[in-house]
Amino acid sequence: MNVLVINCGSSSLKYQLVDMRDESVLAKGLVERIGIEGSVLKHETTGKEKAVIEQPMENHKVALELVIAALTDENHGAIKGMNEINAVGHRVVHGGEKFSGSVIIDGDVIKAMEECVELAPLHNPPNLMGISACKEIMPNVPMVGVFDTAFHQTMPKSSYIYPLPYELYEKYGIRKYGFHGTSHKYVAQRTAALLDRPLEDLKIVTCHLGNGASVTAIDGGKSIDTSMGFTPLEGLAMGTRCGDLDPAIVTFIMEKENLDIEGINNLLNKKSGVLGISGVSSDFRDIENAAKEGNERAQLSLDKFDIRVRKYVAAYAAVMGGVDAIVFTAGLGENSATNREEIVRGLEFMGVKICSERNKTRGKEVIVSTDDSKVKVLVIPTNEELMIARDTQELLK
Ligand code: ADP
Repeated sequence: MNVLVINCGSSSLKYQLVDMRDESVLAKGLVERIGIEGSVLKHETTGKEKAVIEQPMENHKVALELVIAALTDENHGAIKGMNEINAVGHRVVHGGEKFSGSVIIDGDVIKAMEECVELAPLHNPPNLMGISACKEIMPNVPMVGVFDTAFHQTMPKSSYIYPLPYELYEKYGIRKYGFHGTSHKYVAQRTAALLDRPLEDLKIVTCHLGNGASVTAIDGGKSIDTSMGFTPLEGLAMGTRCGDLDPAIVTFIMEKENLDIEGINNLLNKKSGVLGISGVSSDFRDIENAAKEGNERAQLSLDKFDIRVRKYVAAYAAVMGGVDAIVFTAGLGENSATNREEIVRGLEFMGVKICSERNKTRGKEVIVSTDDSKVKVLVIPTNEELMIARDTQELLK
């Protein structure tokens, strides 16, 4: 079975075609600037030269048509025809309380997804656009929805309820949902495999540190707490998002800076985080370089980032009553040895010892703690696409 995995953003479409016989990636690519001038499709079939196609793409349907043309192209394609796409797996950001697992997409599911739009107004509409484009172009190919929030639906109520008037939870669904679930679940499964222990016996803290970042407490394979909340704004300091704040700051800034709702949302989501503190960039590579050159605010932003991850790791060890493994994944988690070392530096008291030499390894799964470290520390490259492809195959079996 070949599964086409699709992840639609407001102006982007990422895809991978996976051959489920051996879970190999036949082709992958990215469309950027959909609906904006300068639309471009970058496509790569495994073992062939990359193709870059620049032409206007007014919406996700046009983009998807070009993706399928690229996948079936005589020169840079991976398959002979559309009939070799047996199923489509869609990444969907918010499943609210409606979805605690992946589902086959039908009319009722689409309706339920539409009801979740209010909870993720920036993310769910493009996901739905991707689904409707597939429905139009490939009406007979079954589709599965895989939700970022689903894995966290196992959280106990004491984790997900906010200390607000309870009626607001009942009226509007204001509660912690958590995100990056597919990634946290994947690296937890890989951790069990690498440690050669049943997932059910492990207490794991997973750190997904990318542009968006979150930490999850996984006890016996189940998410029991996570740092992102009602929206992906809570928790860690991120590339451009503030994470945890004294909520009184929000109204204070609105008043002082004369900001409306859109203005404050923009400030907290797009201008804060390590970009806000450093004033340099949201990209940790730029910030690390600036810090090396003596930029104090760049260093401060890294310190803030690291200490907050460290706090969450220790807090989640306490929530679970112990921790067997701490796992790093995503752009920064997989690549930045210095940040990993800095994050776990204060955790020796919990029995965490990192090996500097092992910690230098990049691009593969590796245990970076010392042999005598009570708590194992691992780096595991995430693979959300593979998880989506697996769920898709599983449901359609
Ligand atoms: P997302 O999917 O949330 O956009 P990624 O998981 O791709 O994010 O992570 C992107 C981030 O990872 C970049 O913004 C960058 O800060 C960080 N990153 C990538 N490579 C490195 C590296 N070698 N050193 C430090 N940070 C890195």
